[in-house]
Amino acid sequence: MKDVLVIGSGISGMSCAVRCAELGLNVTLVSPFPSERAQSVMAAGGINAVLEDNGEGDTVLCHVEDTLRGGGYLSSEEEVKGLCERSGEILRFLERIGTVFSVDENGKTAKRAFGGQSHKRTYYCGASTGKQIVSSLIMEVRHFEAAGKITRRLWSCFHSGLILDGVCYGALIYDETTRKLETIYADAVVMATGGQNTLFGKTTGSTQCDGYAQGQLFRQGVELKNLEFIQYHPTTLVTGQKNMLISEAARGEGGRLFYMENGKRVYFMEDKYGEKGNLMTRDVVSREMFLVNKDIWLDVSFLGERLIRRRIPEVMELCRKYRGIDISKEPIPVTPSVHFFMGGFAVSLDHETNIRNLFAVGECASKYHGANRLGGNSLLAAIYGGMKAAEEIAGRAGDDKHPDFSGYAARQTQVLEEKGKTESRFPVAYIRDLLAETMQKDLGIVRNEESLDNGITDVDYYLENADRIQYDNSVMTYFNYSLTGILTLARAVLTCAKNRRESRGAHYRSDYPEMKEEYASSTIISYDDGVYRTRPEGNVGTSINTERCI
Ligand SMILES: Cc1cc2nc3c(=O)[nH]c(=O)nc-3n(C[C@H](O)[C@H](O)[C@H](O)COP(=O)(O)OP(=O)(O)OC[C@H]3O[C@@H](n4cnc5c(N)ncnc54)[C@H](O)[C@@H]3O)c2cc1C
Repeated sequence: MKDVLVIGSGISGMSCAVRCAELGLNVTLVSPFPSERAQSVMAAGGINAVLEDNGEGDTVLCHVEDTLRGGGYLSSEEEVKGLCERSGEILRFLERIGTVFSVDENGKTAKRAFGGQSHKRTYYCGASTGKQIVSSLIMEVRHFEAAGKITRRLWSCFHSGLILDGVCYGALIYDETTRKLETIYADAVVMATGGQNTLFGKTTGSTQCDGYAQGQLFRQGVELKNLEFIQYHPTTLVTGQKNMLISEAARGEGGRLFYMENGKRVYFMEDKYGEKGNLMTRDVVSREMFLVNKDIWLDVSFLGERLIRRRIPEVMELCRKYRGIDISKEPIPVTPSVHFFMGGFAVSLDHETNIRNLFAVGECASKYHGANRLGGNSLLAAIYGGMKAAEEIAGRAGDDKHPDFSGYAARQTQVLEEKGKTESRFPVAYIRDLLAETMQKDLGIVRNEESLDNGITDVDYYLENADRIQYDNSVMTYFNYSLTGILTLARAVLTCAKNRRESRGAHYRSDYPEMKEEYASSTIISYDDGVYRTRPEGNVGTSINTERCI
């Protein structure tokens, strides 16, 4: 293969582009905004790895077991092993390209504890791990750009795939500067478009990650997986615009969750789960917070100002800046909020979708995290997935011939022109807001048949209207045409949640609170002209039972 189109330039997209270039492929890297503005820069807490010389009893198998257990054993052991086995290599790669990791008092690369880990294995760069990794990758991309191997395309948004008879030949890209659709043919297309925040409005993440690409490609026959598993992060700080993440590092450093009763603090997580209670996995902590149904606080004040400034300065700064709270003296009011999407494109071991030559990496793909992701594993999976897809693509023979999609491109151009003819302003933003309200209400930490049915009825109604409305010419064209894809994805998410009549990981049904054997598999969902079909895939694995990891 020669030409690769990578869509999305966060950590996963850039990792894929760089690896493709290293392997001699030509890459076009497309995104609406510069990488410096991708959600990846928000990652603060760290990246998981097992380093041979810094393990302190940790092993790759422990990392595998923690990841499988944390995810309710829904991921494939073989795939998770592949991820964990390369974690050390990935950390060394990041150092080589200029990522500077924090060191401890002994001069060793510092690591911290994150939820669900049997050993400390989260490496970090002060308070800005994502930013540091993004910066290093940008330098690598520039290096290959100068060598003519990578072409960056900004202000460019994915429109649709060029797909015929189960094979992908490229994509239609909308250029917001020329306001035109462009046909880009490629031997392979790699989707790296991140999560699905727009579905829920207020989350910890970026609204650039709207799930449109998933929804659109789903409409074009691409299968999606495990959409019902949505991670609510237990500790976020409510501000006007969004819910700001209080990194898990705060609990990793000993932070304690409590509520007040009769003038006394109740440390409910410790009471129920013992010493490690505050560091249970995110699904468990969020659910407990929901069930106690009280105002919850996180206390780190006992660490003292000096340690707080050294270990979690970003948490201190964030609370001071947004809420005027001095965390060295007072506790933080915290609330769970949508944070990460375990579901996404269903992909093979090599990150290929069910459509040949169409790949997906990073948060837009559903792969290693099962029913619940462990903190620090996402950055690792984003880089690993990008590399893995690149290596698969490089090993394949290319085909110079492709079908002619000019008729398809002309028809899509006509649709955009027709819909953009009026000066309607209201409906697009309005429907997006309604959708977020519906999803927050009906697909919360705890769901049930009734809430999911309500959600489906509402989203079907929005979908009917979305097809009819005119575009709002005061915003990016992408904001308009993405609506139907986003709504379709929302409908698919609700369908997956309705069809899993049990509780597992981040999916908790108040009407089916138990885990059930008959649902011990992943959910695959496909779309055929308005019909949403789910089917189970694979069986839940078992514990690899490394005693030291428990
Ligand atoms: C506040 C916060 C803190 C986090 N902290 C951690 C942490 O400490 N450790 C950890 O492991 N994980 C963390 N995560 C999760 C992690 O940051 C993400 O899962 C990961 O960075 C995703 O990388 P990505 O490359 O897949 O997507 P992103 O970085 O989201 O990049 C997506 C790219 O796709 C582009 N794009 C989107 N739609 C389109 C379209 N239609 N057309 C073209 N381009 C498009 C975007 O512009 C962007 O360039 C955190 C997440 C948040 C929100």
